Amino acid sequence: MSATIIDGKAFAAGVRAQVAEQVARLKEVHGITPGLAVVLVGEDPASEVYVRNKGKQTVEVGMNSFEHKLPAETSEEELLALIDRLNKSPAVHGILVQLPLPGHLNSDLVINSIDPAKDVDGFHISNVGLLGTGQKAMVPCTPLGCLMMLRDHLGSLSGLNAVVVGRSNIVGKPMAQLLLGDSCTVTIAHSRTKDLAAVCRGADILVAAVGRPEMIPGDWVKPGATVIDVGINRIERDGKTKLVGDVDFASAAAVAGAITPVPGGVGPMTIACLLANTLTACCRANGLPEPE
Ligand code: NDP
Repeated sequence: MSATIIDGKAFAAGVRAQVAEQVARLKEVHGITPGLAVVLVGEDPASEVYVRNKGKQTVEVGMNSFEHKLPAETSEEELLALIDRLNKSPAVHGILVQLPLPGHLNSDLVINSIDPAKDVDGFHISNVGLLGTGQKAMVPCTPLGCLMMLRDHLGSLSGLNAVVVGRSNIVGKPMAQLLLGDSCTVTIAHSRTKDLAAVCRGADILVAAVGRPEMIPGDWVKPGATVIDVGINRIERDGKTKLVGDVDFASAAAVAGAITPVPGGVGPMTIACLLANTLTACCRANGLPEPE
């Protein structure tokens, strides 16, 4: 193995420590405690784990955590009424509705009912538009975490060829926008891309956000490239359940210059960025300077 392993777990711990320090100062100097409300509809086991982790880490950095667990049969009207209350609550600075929502609920409608200033996931159409036009936005947490690790590892990204595999609204598209904002030459690949291997081989920065276990082998990776593996896939191997990414780690690590592992790469950074976004939202709401 030749690649540097980018330790997202340690990086995320550093981000959380900084957030905790700034939260303590906000409380001490201004008497303000940032608050994050997380709304979970239904009983999806993976979502329950995410929501529990988010709540735990929110409290650990000194913020208030408000968890709203609603039954799967909750109506759109009831959900929108809750979001309206959270939008109006001065104690709540960030609102996150855990996706996916049960099928009878219109996710776009629900997400767009969140006050954009409290939309710490950055999925509201206003924040998407602000990001796309290079204006100050709430930036989606997973791509933001990827960008932070890339900048930390590479310094300037200007002029590098970046390939993002995946074009979802929550990862692929905002990731591409952020890389473009940092002056990369960006290609977005997806399931209809022709000769994906050749496209990937041109990448100085390769971001995989596909949701297919170990789909990208080492011989698709340009020697020395920086590989960010967003995928979280549960597979059975040797009779055990294992988490793997969208990149075949062993073969890619033999070629890449640097690579994020799964687990311990992008995942921990996502929640750390959620907390950082909540702090930012709280500062903006109170007319205070934003954290760096
Ligand atoms: P989506 O399913 O919404 O999007 C997957 C994308 O991959 C689509 O654009 C799809 O293309 C593309 N794709 C699918 N198959 C292929 C293929 N064979 N070749 C090329 N492209 C393909 O997934 P998400 O963006 O929500 O998530 C992607 C992965 O990231 C998942 O594993 C998810 O678990 C993980 N994830 C991790 C997070 C973290 O915190 N670490 C947070 C969010 C997601 P098309 O549009 O053409 O269908």
